[in-house]
Amino acid sequence: MRQTSDVDGLSVEGLVVKYGGLVAVDGQNLTAPRGRITGLIGPNGAGKTTTFNACTGMVKPAAGKVRLLGEDITGLAPHVRALKGMGRTFQRMELYDTLTVRENVVLGKEAGMAGGNPFRHLRATRSQTVQLRRVAAGAMEMCGISGLAARRPANLSTGQRRLVELARCIAGEYPLMLLDEPSSGLDGAETEEFGRILKSLVAERGVGILIVEHDMALVMSICDYIHVLDFGKPIFEGSPREVATSKLVRAAYLGSEADGMAKFENDEERARV
Ligand code: ATP
Repeated sequence: MRQTSDVDGLSVEGLVVKYGGLVAVDGQNLTAPRGRITGLIGPNGAGKTTTFNACTGMVKPAAGKVRLLGEDITGLAPHVRALKGMGRTFQRMELYDTLTVRENVVLGKEAGMAGGNPFRHLRATRSQTVQLRRVAAGAMEMCGISGLAARRPANLSTGQRRLVELARCIAGEYPLMLLDEPSSGLDGAETEEFGRILKSLVAERGVGILIVEHDMALVMSICDYIHVLDFGKPIFEGSPREVATSKLVRAAYLGSEADGMAKFENDEERARV
């Protein structure tokens, strides 16, 4: 068996998180390697956000290890994890509405370049400025929002704002990106477009993505591998096909979000005919 410390990406081993007497996550193991999209799903309250927050350093685990590119990062602060290569987006978007889209995206790269030195946050060198603009332009192009560069996020649709947030994370050039319910607030067409961008991001840049997501159709269409949690415990893992056909997973969802899984199965069936 492959050691999780060898994983070229993110690995979580024996994760336990407690809120007082409540064990929110109980023995989670997962890997999210580079060059792949890994999904983390489960019914409401299953412990997805808690696992995500333990990975990003927002909550402290009672037990277990989180490793990034083989390095133990369990005790590190969120900003240190970012400097080591972990980017993230938020379910509630955190964009600066007084800045333009381009300036928001530039921040994704600038924060990493300046690091912990406050003086370097005040002034960038000329070559750094050129590099910042180039990286931001590439990220905006990848997300199809180059035409919005001079606009302010406040005046954009939710779908466009999600793409700005994604572009900012891409600009950080992280080898590993964690996305927390990125389809939240998007309509069907916007969600499909978002999924296409994520797939090309992985294919072209080889980043690894861990995605926590309720939209089962999106998860099934973009993930290479999926981990399923229920009541804080890992209950299943496998390919989208294996997850979609698992009786255990369907029972956990009690039909609530199983529609997206059924659609995946039907689409696959049609594609084979
Ligand atoms: P959802 O899909 O509804 O967002 P989830 O799978 O992300 O759910 P979590 O939010 O991780 O699940 O919650 C796991 C359990 O921990 C739930 O029982 C929840 O009520 C509890 N919980 C989450 N955050 C806290 C907190 N800060 N304090 C106490 N209990 C919490």
